[in-house]
Amino acid sequence: MAAHGVVDGHSCEHPWVRVDATGTIVATGAGVPPTAANDTAFDLGHRLLLPGMVNAHSHAFQRLIRGKTHTLAAGNPDSFWSWRTAMYAAATTLDPDGVYQATRDCFAEMLAAGITCVGEFHYLHHRPDGRPYDQANALSQAVIAAATDVGIRLALLEVFYARAGHQQQLLPEQRRFCDASVEAYFARVDALRGRSSQQLTIGLAPHSVRAVGFDALVAIADYATRHDMVVHTHVSEQPRENRECHAEHGCSPTEILARAGLLARPRTFTAVHAIHISERDIELLATQNVCACPTTEADLGDGIVAADRLLAAGSNLCVGSDSNAVIDLVQEARLLEMHTRLATGRRLCLLSAQRQQLGPILWNIASTNGATALGRPDLGELSVGRPFDAVVCEPAYPKVADEPNAAFDAMMAAGTAACIRQVFVGGRRLR
Ligand SMILES: [Zn+2]
Repeated sequence: MAAHGVVDGHSCEHPWVRVDATGTIVATGAGVPPTAANDTAFDLGHRLLLPGMVNAHSHAFQRLIRGKTHTLAAGNPDSFWSWRTAMYAAATTLDPDGVYQATRDCFAEMLAAGITCVGEFHYLHHRPDGRPYDQANALSQAVIAAATDVGIRLALLEVFYARAGHQQQLLPEQRRFCDASVEAYFARVDALRGRSSQQLTIGLAPHSVRAVGFDALVAIADYATRHDMVVHTHVSEQPRENRECHAEHGCSPTEILARAGLLARPRTFTAVHAIHISERDIELLATQNVCACPTTEADLGDGIVAADRLLAAGSNLCVGSDSNAVIDLVQEARLLEMHTRLATGRRLCLLSAQRQQLGPILWNIASTNGATALGRPDLGELSVGRPFDAVVCEPAYPKVADEPNAAFDAMMAAGTAACIRQVFVGGRRLR
């Protein structure tokens, strides 16, 4: 029991949750909890009890270049594309043990920041020269091992990457991202699907319309439908990607993804970024998920996602830590609102008649909505039958905002993930 929280999808005072020995929630309520024999009660006092956060988009190894791309000097990054050069340099140095170490350190930081499930958009597959390892999934296995050792749930979004761009020669650094064919990719995914569990699910991730041609997009849509899998793709992060797509296909990236059949099943497709999009693209994404990554998008000068218009259209909006230069979904969710204020000159941009309070809206974006995007409807909410994946937060400014609703809003509008004091996955306290 706690002073305040979000239980059964609603913000409420004095929530309580009963968890059985398997870590599953067996009862919830508000007020004074009924006690049964053998119950062990934990009174969280003035703290908040909230569903664990779900990080819908991460590249764990990119954390290695945190702080290393901010110095102006000859050859140093000054745009998205030169930042990418620095990222590629890090990507080429890692062997399977290096991928494991970098991913484990990153996932441990996520867990401490209240993230109980992560969607890892994983595109390092083969040796630096492109030859497969003896174990074709060696690097994917390293990511799975890292998640297992940290205790965080993993949606492994296995990337397909085929080319530098339409009629563009593959860069040497991109070789290790590429499978020999889409069939070779499906063979690796087949093997990984056999390992699915409560801790691990597998999704498909055609990297972008720049890196994947139309026929492969169609094949991936078909495979995803047959095996009931989610699909994630980078969409319209940079204007150059849109220009190249128009030159190749005569339409926007979102339109070509729809034409390939990837948007046919509601809430199974996630457009990551979706920054440079048209009104038509917003219509197409209304039944799908959009994952914004505001700290990375700001770092790379990508632009501002139209969070208010996407929400109004019906899109399921979630967030990701992407490059992991910052790992704090409280800040990611807040920046969706704050960037929209800067772009529109208005306040309370994400609120509506159905969504009237900022704290619960932003937490929902950082938890429930991410779980939907990762194909985990069992996560992101504290309700009966679900695993107890939860965080306990210290109000950020107790002397400023003593009233519980104000404490929640203060945390989401002005606090950080540093407020998080306890983290549970499947009923097990990991922090
Ligand atoms: Zn990304």
